[in-house]
Amino acid sequence: MKTTISLSVLLLTYCSSFEPATISRADHKGPIGYYAGDPLPPKTAFLTFDDGPSDWTSDVLDVLKKENIKATFFVCGAWLPKASTKGNSFRKYKTVLVRMKEEGHTIGNHTLGHQNFAYMSPKKIESQLEENQRLYQNELGEYSGKLIWIRPPFGSPYIKTKNETVRRRVSSALQGKGFIFMWTKEFDSTDSKEWVKGEWYEKGAKINPDHEKFKRKMDRIYNSLASKAEGQGVVILFHDTHPTTKEVLPFIIEKLRSEGYTFATAEDYTRWRWGKTSEELSEEDSD
Ligand SMILES: [Zn+2]
Repeated sequence: MKTTISLSVLLLTYCSSFEPATISRADHKGPIGYYAGDPLPPKTAFLTFDDGPSDWTSDVLDVLKKENIKATFFVCGAWLPKASTKGNSFRKYKTVLVRMKEEGHTIGNHTLGHQNFAYMSPKKIESQLEENQRLYQNELGEYSGKLIWIRPPFGSPYIKTKNETVRRRVSSALQGKGFIFMWTKEFDSTDSKEWVKGEWYEKGAKINPDHEKFKRKMDRIYNSLASKAEGQGVVILFHDTHPTTKEVLPFIIEKLRSEGYTFATAEDYTRWRWGKTSEELSEEDSD
């Protein structure tokens, strides 16, 4: 793949937004899980996709199927850009979610309406997770199961949050609700940073993968990830709500493979780190 912008420009432009403090679990006594800085198996890439399902999720699944890769999806029941908590994405994309499950991907909870935990009461945090789970169960029925893994919207308050009191309050609210799966420092693909010309969250007239800005965004995502993957384990943050993501994904996979990487899910992580399934861990957690 040809790249049109140099890495130095990229670094200058994006480093300032790439400064998640490495906040370990010991700092806040939150639920167990993966937090930036925690151990990861070497040469392993955990591809994670937030905010879906959307019109683009089945295309992402097509890429993963072709490449024989299992990934992790953190789903929202009512995610709509610049909108409220109205809507029911689980009903709209039920067949996509069933497929996700049948093809062996891990599905986690990204809350119902994608609000920031840092500004919510413990009660509200709990209801955002539980309502998402309930909606998922209602729509998916026998295909549902428990969404044990949690990806907090915006990674908050485990990224960029300087306020320890907030972190402790949220952590205590999350205790017993599931396990946290954050992403690795500097492996936010930044695909959700903006909407460029030629892309949108739904299929239709706005979509033009040939638009210069669409291509430039693909290059930006590719360069930012490819230059940093040097054999260390990585959890990469993507969003299956952006068509640029599914377009650039095969190139990223190819690059990671050429560096010797294999691919795994949050569920694989549980077995690797604790020698148990998330369900077994979850039962212990509630004892
Ligand atoms: Zn999100």
